[in-house]
Amino acid sequence: MEKKRLLIADNFKSTIETITQHEKACEYEIEVVKSGPDALKAIDTFKPDLILVDLMLPKMHGIEILKDIKEDPQTAKMGVIVTSFYTMIQNYRASIEGHADYFLEKPFDGIRFFDLVQKFFEGKLKPDPFYTSDQKDLEGRYVPVQTMATNYIQFWGTRGSIPVSGSRYNRIGGNTCCLEVRHHDDLIIIDAGTGIRDLGLEIAARGVKTIHLFIGHTHWDHITGFPFFAPMYLADVEVHLYAPVGYQKDAEELFSEMLAYAFFPVRLDEMQAKFHVHQMRDGDTINIGTLGIETHYTHHPGSTLGFKIRSPTHTVGYITDNEMLLGYHGHPDAIDIDHPLLEPHLSLIQFLTDCDMIVHEAQYFPEEYEKKVGWGHSSISNATVLIKHTGCQEWLVTHHDPQHSDDDLHIKLQMHRDVIADCHLHTNVRLAFDGMTLPL
Ligand SMILES: [Zn+2]
Ligand SMILES: [Zn+2]
Repeated sequence: MEKKRLLIADNFKSTIETITQHEKACEYEIEVVKSGPDALKAIDTFKPDLILVDLMLPKMHGIEILKDIKEDPQTAKMGVIVTSFYTMIQNYRASIEGHADYFLEKPFDGIRFFDLVQKFFEGKLKPDPFYTSDQKDLEGRYVPVQTMATNYIQFWGTRGSIPVSGSRYNRIGGNTCCLEVRHHDDLIIIDAGTGIRDLGLEIAARGVKTIHLFIGHTHWDHITGFPFFAPMYLADVEVHLYAPVGYQKDAEELFSEMLAYAFFPVRLDEMQAKFHVHQMRDGDTINIGTLGIETHYTHHPGSTLGFKIRSPTHTVGYITDNEMLLGYHGHPDAIDIDHPLLEPHLSLIQFLTDCDMIVHEAQYFPEEYEKKVGWGHSSISNATVLIKHTGCQEWLVTHHDPQHSDDDLHIKLQMHRDVIADCHLHTNVRLAFDGMTLPL
């Protein structure tokens, strides 16, 4: 009896070997092709009785070949087994509706294949209903470490001076300063700008009971979200507020007055949370569980503190308001470490030298700074001088000017990079944005 002819149209070595090296292979005349055009040629010349065709055959899809076979009266009777590594319902349906005799999921072994072949020639091969193994091989599965699940800093507000809203600010965001610092159950918040409202809702939902809130200085952009800080209304929550020793009024007085009935319907002493005020001075170190926070004066109207946060693995500087090099408009490279203009800043530079990352403002384009000398904020180029002398390689710019739209800030970021390149530095600079989260 003449041997039945099998055409294997498949480009995968494992499939070809499974079939051609099986002991039953000698019972059939087998030809192997590895591309769509070769399969069509072989259908013409080899005239197989049954073809196994892989869906992703090079140069032609298996369904196209199936159609070719079934729509040509010359070949319509030929058996077709469609095979694929990926069993998806759409592929299965296209195959069966295209009159394939069977859909065979890979990988398969020789016994299974030649069983199907035998059934076909006995006229008994019927497609099985769609089935996919759930392939949940959970043993030995890869579970990546989630660095940021509980250890992170998150920016809830990155705008300086006053909140902004509208489509021009969608990407960077419009909330004023607020930073969440979290290491497992230890939580520090720096600044109570409008960003603290959303943060408050989240940490109330999280069930956080002890909160340490640091205020670098009491200008509006750093405190205006406080009345809307949800945990202040929860009786089982304890809020510790740390603020610099008062310039004109101490922090407790300031927060009480801010919440006078003339300004807000709930007074500080009517809020249910237990509230403690701690005074902070330049050089203080405060430890909150595994986190440490250190303070240093910055150059800004009134008494203003910058911060350095330590977790067991990271050290981050956070300086939102600081005017570098008062009135300087020259090239940043001209300010070497001995330059007299740098002297007022040497101590802060020293403070920041061990940071892995520095968050520092650079609120103005150079031409804007020409008009805003003494306002307490830095130009791009003057802030670069500070970063340069700390030696830090990671700079995040925050406290964005309310005048600057997303497009302006996009242009500004490129100017940051150009200035950094001009100074022959390799610092990575990014813009902080509302919602930005980084591992701590
Ligand atoms: Zn500010
Ligand atoms: Zn300020």
